[in-house]
Amino acid sequence: QQGERTRLVEAHKVAARYYAEQLDGPEAEPARRFLGERGFDQEAARHFGIGYAPAGWDHLVRYLRGQGFTDRELTASGLAQEARNGRPIDRFRGRLMWPIRDITGDVVGFGARKLREDDQGPKYLNTPETPIYRKSQVLYGIDLAKREIAKENRAVVVEGYTDVMACHLAGIRTAIATCGTAFGGEHVKILRRVLMDNSQSEVVFTFDGDAAGQKAALRAFEDDQKFAARTWIAITPGGMDPCDLRLAQGDAAVAEVVEGRTPLFDFAMRSIVDRHNLDTAGGRSAALEEAAPVVAQIKDGALQHESAVRLAGLLGIVDEQFVVRRVAQLARWA
Ligand code: ATP
Ligand code: MN
Ligand code: MN
Ligand code: MN
Repeated sequence: QQGERTRLVEAHKVAARYYAEQLDGPEAEPARRFLGERGFDQEAARHFGIGYAPAGWDHLVRYLRGQGFTDRELTASGLAQEARNGRPIDRFRGRLMWPIRDITGDVVGFGARKLREDDQGPKYLNTPETPIYRKSQVLYGIDLAKREIAKENRAVVVEGYTDVMACHLAGIRTAIATCGTAFGGEHVKILRRVLMDNSQSEVVFTFDGDAAGQKAALRAFEDDQKFAARTWIAITPGGMDPCDLRLAQGDAAVAEVVEGRTPLFDFAMRSIVDRHNLDTAGGRSAALEEAAPVVAQIKDGALQHESAVRLAGLLGIVDEQFVVRRVAQLARWA
């Protein structure tokens, strides 16, 4: 209900301010060092509202109680969790904090990174599902990027919080990221509202050049079918992510990778084609049988035809009508 949402958003606003203040304290030295080593100065940290959650069990819990929040509100917000004795304790302890805002700029959750390898828990800890935080719907950076996304009619999707920061600082202010989950249909819906001219809009997935990033790109392709935007992929070199790349080679290198994008369709097809030997008829036929069903899923008739012709080219099949017919046949059966 409306009242609860307002209270949970208010709790996050106060918490974000609290964490940001803690980033200046002596205990937060490792957090400031982490930011510095990633190429983020104080101004960047302030721009993104970065904070530090102190180590200890209940610093935030006590602070929020002092601000009039009830224990029930603290656990419902996800900022606290119930200890075994039923008392609320801080969910985030000794971590670097990224406030996650919705499209209107309200803080609805946090992404939290541990600062030492041997700290307990996963590398990144996010707010759990709450009435105001649904991970399938949040896009980190959307509040900062929405105007530029609408203006350029293009969105750049990256994997992590540090990548969004690096891209924005490198001048790519259309960058956004999912938060600990794959890019999916719900994210598409949100982007669609920002990318107004859908026939001309572009989405560029700029994923880490590691195995996980490549897999994520192929997963994104499955949702591409539901998305009218032209979809591209840019893979960063050498297993780096945009944050690493900016550190190693500077702002221009990040922009170059995004500009050097390839159509996601070609990337997905090539990943299939690369597993076959196209020098033999048997190899071309096997590749076709694997790739054609994917093309057959494309709903738009004109796009399906165009894609079948492109596939013929990628496979080195001279009789492109053969590929077009095979795809159409599979589409009818589907
Ligand atoms: P860093 O450079 O700080 O080590 P990263 O942002 O490059 O981290 P990746 O390991 O490339 O992190 O993962 C990309 C994104 O996936 C992260 O930013 C985070 O949102 C999410 N993620 C990674 N590891 C975890 C985890 N253990 N639990 C939840 N989400 C995670
Ligand atoms: Mn990665
Ligand atoms: Mn990284
Ligand atoms: Mn990464």
